Amino acid sequence: MKATYAFEDANSKNRVLLGGKGAGLSEMTKLKLPVPPGFTITTEVCNKYYENRKQLPKNLMSEVIKNISKIEKKTGKKWNSGDNPLLVSVRSGAAISMPGMMDTILNLGLNDQTVLGLAKITNNPRFAWDSYRRFIQLFGKVVFGVNDEKFDSVLKMSKKKQGVADDSKLNVDSLKKIVAKYKKICEDHTKQKFPTAPNEQVQLAIDAVFRSWMGERAVIYREKNNITKDIANGTAVNIQTMVFGNMGNDSATGVVFTRNGHNGIKEIEGEYLVNAQGEDVVAGVRTGKDIPKLQKEMPKSYKELFITCKKLEKHFKEPQDIEFTIEQGKFYLLQTRTAKMSAFALIKTSVDMVKEKLIDKNRALSRIPAQQLEALLHNTIDQSKIKDFKQVAKGIAASPGAASGVAVFDVKKAITMGENNTKVILIRIETKPEDVPAFFSSEGILTSLGGKSSHAAIVSRGMGKPCIVGCSELKVDYEKRKCIANGVTILEGDAITIDGSTGTVYAGIIPTVAPQVTKDFKTILTWAQKTKRLGIRANADTPDAAKLARKYGAEGIGLCRTERMFNADDRLAIFVDMIMAKKINQRKNILKKLGMLQKSDFIKILKAMEGYKVTIRLLDPPLNEFLPNPEELIDKIYKNKNNEKLSDLKKVLERAKELAEVNPMMGHRGVRLGITYPEIYEMQIRAVFEATAELVKKKANIKPQIMIPQISSISELNHIKKIYDVIKSEMEKKHKVKLEINFGTMLEVVRACLTSDELVKTAEFFSFGTNDLTQAVFSFSREDAEGKFLPEYMEKDLLETSPFQSIDKNGVGDLMKIAISQGRAHKKDLEIGICGEHGGDPNSIKFCHSANISYVSASPHRIPIAIVAAAQAAINQK
Ligand code: PEP
Ligand code: MG
Repeated sequence: MKATYAFEDANSKNRVLLGGKGAGLSEMTKLKLPVPPGFTITTEVCNKYYENRKQLPKNLMSEVIKNISKIEKKTGKKWNSGDNPLLVSVRSGAAISMPGMMDTILNLGLNDQTVLGLAKITNNPRFAWDSYRRFIQLFGKVVFGVNDEKFDSVLKMSKKKQGVADDSKLNVDSLKKIVAKYKKICEDHTKQKFPTAPNEQVQLAIDAVFRSWMGERAVIYREKNNITKDIANGTAVNIQTMVFGNMGNDSATGVVFTRNGHNGIKEIEGEYLVNAQGEDVVAGVRTGKDIPKLQKEMPKSYKELFITCKKLEKHFKEPQDIEFTIEQGKFYLLQTRTAKMSAFALIKTSVDMVKEKLIDKNRALSRIPAQQLEALLHNTIDQSKIKDFKQVAKGIAASPGAASGVAVFDVKKAITMGENNTKVILIRIETKPEDVPAFFSSEGILTSLGGKSSHAAIVSRGMGKPCIVGCSELKVDYEKRKCIANGVTILEGDAITIDGSTGTVYAGIIPTVAPQVTKDFKTILTWAQKTKRLGIRANADTPDAAKLARKYGAEGIGLCRTERMFNADDRLAIFVDMIMAKKINQRKNILKKLGMLQKSDFIKILKAMEGYKVTIRLLDPPLNEFLPNPEELIDKIYKNKNNEKLSDLKKVLERAKELAEVNPMMGHRGVRLGITYPEIYEMQIRAVFEATAELVKKKANIKPQIMIPQISSISELNHIKKIYDVIKSEMEKKHKVKLEINFGTMLEVVRACLTSDELVKTAEFFSFGTNDLTQAVFSFSREDAEGKFLPEYMEKDLLETSPFQSIDKNGVGDLMKIAISQGRAHKKDLEIGICGEHGGDPNSIKFCHSANISYVSASPHRIPIAIVAAAQAAINQK
């Protein structure tokens, strides 16, 4: 195993081996840019170090010393020399940038002899002794773990003694005394002499940088940012000749972005400090000057910087984030990496770079993390204000966007307050369809239970309202109208802000930034539309949602959940009455009313989607969501003083108990309901045919499809197909027109996937319901798992992400592939879609593309993200 690579010899494309910083330095060296010479110790060595119980490999130091001799030749400086000493920096650098999370040591190689050489060659003893004291402090802290405060108190005392306020005013004598005291601090700490030999110093420094890979800061950062081993495995160590930005007023150090990271404008922006070291800029010890000022102050260096920025952008085809140092008028580059940008800036720079012919459209699309586009479609928290607010709790990010308002725990109150223009955040333990009217009048929804596909999550996403679910830290007390999380109490009426994109709850009202679908964003979407192969449809249950989806670029509706069409207050009561009806005639009467409502909605939805397919799924209500809660009913009966109503309440309770199930998600729902209460599906099928007939007569180009949920066998599907056939011929006779309505099935039961070769004989299309399918494959409740044990699974590395968010490719994905290949073996062009919540997730979209699925269906607000992700999947596969 080769442990080290000189910058000029490394394969700069191998970021995994060299780390991002090492790869960048190598690439810049090869471009003949002014990079101080150095070499990289690979991430493989870091892994060996850990395998070997934190011992450096035996041959490492001899390789390091050979590389240092090479640097000596290139620079003319000498390691451990009293005349012209070579000093180096020792820096961490993983494959993914983890700014400030690991350790760095500067000015290494200084000792009592080399400091004199540095003083002589620079003719600046003050600078030499200042560098020496900085080195001992950093080395003591990073290598020996000495508390910084000990050094700081010495520094403070010395300034007091000399009568100066600023570090830079300390004279050589004071600095020499500080150096002696700093060494003593280290020696008291280690009970050993401070290492003077540069070889020993460098060995200890390498060891310390490797150790910092598993330091608390670094581990937490990786956890929070989902940096798993396949993304970055270990840190590299870069050893590089020191150059000094603190060698006087003709020296400087700075950071520059080749384009503005906030708004994407093509301008060099950043800051620099005269007579300072890099750490001062990063740590914000002194306030930097804006880069344009450098043009006046050091015009020659500015010119070099300007040319370098252009050159690097042209080479990397990405806006860069560059660190530079000017040492006595000579310009050096210390680091370059892809600049981090806001979603807005990413979009603008993508379009601009295509116009400038720097990149092509495919590259412009690929460089945008699709998920980040979310920020352009919803209100987002103003990040500059966030530090002034207290984070109260964290739950599952269920529907993106930020919203503020007063906390309200009661549905009716939320409706009244919302209607009176008060901004409300509805807080519930969980939500049910009867709570939905309050969704309309609230700015956002927060629940302590539930997962990504729970009722609150699905309904909020459909409406585009910010929502957090499964916030288990939040203890909600309806009686006392308050909730408590992490010692903070939120009373009804208190102001709160929720961020549905991160799942964070804050106290107070944080200002938000409005979404902006700019001209550039539209351009990106047009390019993506032309590039993608996958169809993009919407999960939309109302005419308004259908219109919005179409505006965002949806090519049809992949799932219209008909049970969600009864969310409006006036409709829900009729729907619950229908479910509760004990006698068939009673139910049929109610169904007539519902049929009329459905027909008029279907007409509006089909018209909004003219030219595109609209998949209407017959009723699939998990009864637990719709039935009155027996406990609440008992409570009502107990408290009820009005004897007249008591008998009614008791009847309701009796029926609710009759219908109650232990496990409603696996109970009397979907097609099972259609089989036991055929009048319900008959009404719905008829309503679709009636709506279709009316529009066909008006020559509208509509493409309705009927889809049956929860199918597990061909006999179930055929049973419903017979009903469909009877109604079809009845309707064609009645309206004297041919009515084409495709008949298909959901695949959301494991058995349906395994028997898709049978189902395909009747079904004209398939659509995967990956919410239920994931629940079934894992035997994880889709309602509870994410709020209960899944976070710990992820913490313990048992799962990388929630399978309810991103398709589990090995399990659920493989099952889908079986179903697809069996289905297509019978019907080559069989339309197969996916309509679970995964349809809007970029990783799942990538899988769907590769599995040859026909389309994905996502909630309206995720359509643009899905379009871009689908284009990226197509580009990647080329
Ligand atoms: C599914 O199960 O993936 C699905 C789309 O249906 P629902 O979420 O309505 O159960
Ligand atoms: Mg389902």
